[in-house]
Amino acid sequence: MKSTAFSTSKRSADEVIKRALSSVREHLGMEIAYLSEIEGNDSVFRAVDAPGLEDLVKPGDRRSLDDVYCRHIVEGRLPSLIANTADIPMTASMPITTQVPIGSHVSVPIRREDGSVYGMFCCLSPTPNPSLNKRDLAIMEMFADLCADQVNGAITEAKAYDAQSATIRKILDTRDFRVVYQPIYHLDSNRPSGFEALCRFQSEPYRTPDIWFAEAEAVGLGIDLELAVIDAALDGFAQLPEDVYLSVNASPATATSGRLSEVFDGRPLGRIVLEITEHSAIEDPAALMAELEAWRSRGLILAIDDAGAGYSGLQQIVQLSPDILKLDMSLTSGIDTDAAKRSLAAAMVHFATEQRSVIVAEGIETEAELTTLRKIGVHRGQGWFLGKPASLEDVCAALLQGPSAKQA
Ligand code: C2E
Ligand code: MG
Ligand code: MG
Repeated sequence: MKSTAFSTSKRSADEVIKRALSSVREHLGMEIAYLSEIEGNDSVFRAVDAPGLEDLVKPGDRRSLDDVYCRHIVEGRLPSLIANTADIPMTASMPITTQVPIGSHVSVPIRREDGSVYGMFCCLSPTPNPSLNKRDLAIMEMFADLCADQVNGAITEAKAYDAQSATIRKILDTRDFRVVYQPIYHLDSNRPSGFEALCRFQSEPYRTPDIWFAEAEAVGLGIDLELAVIDAALDGFAQLPEDVYLSVNASPATATSGRLSEVFDGRPLGRIVLEITEHSAIEDPAALMAELEAWRSRGLILAIDDAGAGYSGLQQIVQLSPDILKLDMSLTSGIDTDAAKRSLAAAMVHFATEQRSVIVAEGIETEAELTTLRKIGVHRGQGWFLGKPASLEDVCAALLQGPSAKQA
């Protein structure tokens, strides 16, 4: 599975704990160091540093709290530092002392932010270690604090991850989103030739859909959410005239998930534009091309979204040879007053023509932008000046009223 921000920071916390264990174990000259978590009546080993003794103790092993020193230390019946377990009647009489065996033992509790005990940070040796002293204990406590910070950071992040995951799951289960449709105009006939489906989520304050999709991806639900939205968006066909196409958005991960059939089977593929949006480098361009080719051979129309911005580089576009290139809004915005944008857009038009692709200009907000785009040979466009995203009902009502009078 793809790494997420959470799994990356969890890995770095694990790394810090591992290094802390081996540093403190080497410093004290002991054989085994571990960090445990108290789970019910068990002590569970979460991280272990015990070179050569991996069979004796390894992460995931658990022991009953009744058998180990841990609870006695937390509750003050045993000291944190035991240089020789034979010197203390309680440790001398506990079966684990001879089983492991344990000759010396240093252990301090790791506490959660609310003060409750998470587990223990512990070093032990099969032999007594008379040199162990208060300074060693102080060092042990320093490392335990460091590990406590990591553990608490991971706990906080895990809670945030779970909450985010639950929010997205609820959205998926209840389909708690709306799809709005923005017209894509044929600039020669001044008619909408299609509509881009855009998703809206309920939140206060408002957050744009790309933020929701990024959050869904971070908890491993990005593909599920994108597919659910595509499915809902395509239901719009039932109400739209037959000569109108629908444009839906998908990340390369969704396109290569092998799950497009969940939303495309039984749909009029020749009336569907799949807009591929790249917010990061494509992991496996060959797999993406193969998957998209299979769908295109059955009629699907392919668009590259946000061309001229970010990752939608020319090389990518040449490779995928899309039917449509969506000119990013950063190029459209102010194109009437910016010669550099004009020549770049004109170059894209030329490039698209050579590639046998059609350009759709995004984010047209003014008449002047529209006029300029027409002049440089753009024949399709989308933007607030032409029509804002609206509900399916409003879109259908507007279609019935006939072509808009957006002449330039
Ligand atoms: P996008 O696919 O490039 O969509 C175009 C964005 O520009 C939309 O923002 C649209 O509302 C906005 N827009 C259109 N015309 C104008 C204009 O004239 N001026 C300005 N300022 N903005 C305009 P929105 O809906 O907030 O979506 C943002 C991005 O979130 C989308 O960019 C797309 O990457 C993603 N997104 C939105 N809906 C979906 C969805 O259903 N699925 C997926 N996978 N991504 C989506
Ligand atoms: Mg788009
Ligand atoms: Mg775009």
